[in-house]
Amino acid sequence: MALINCTECGKQVSDKARKCPNCGHPINLRMTTERQTPVRQPQQQTQIIVNQQGSNGTGTAGFVFALLALFLSWIPIFGWILWFFGLLFSFFGLFTSPRSLAVVGFIISIIDLIILFTVVAGVAALFAGIFA
Ligand SMILES: [Zn+2]
Repeated sequence: MALINCTECGKQVSDKARKCPNCGHPINLRMTTERQTPVRQPQQQTQIIVNQQGSNGTGTAGFVFALLALFLSWIPIFGWILWFFGLLFSFFGLFTSPRSLAVVGFIISIIDLIILFTVVAGVAALFAGIFA
């Protein structure tokens, strides 16, 4: 139950009442609905702004995985999995805004790949040296 002001005498009456108990004037319920409608539009506008400025979860995950892979790429298999996830999330993060972290994650993933190849080539050369 809400209280509204009578349009005739200004006295506070229940919105459930059909007539004002003070002056007998019919209660106009349109008063309350008209007051609520303009409030909705700014809320929708702020939601759109929030969505545009919202975080890119996929891109952030890609960046974090790529960064971890950069430091842990020397660990066989585990480093490769990190790199794979980093590349995957960064790639899909590129399609979502804001993509700044996804772009950085994608660049780091490419650097990771160079490091991985160097490590793999180094390990392969090492084994080749041992078993030659
Ligand atoms: Zn009244």
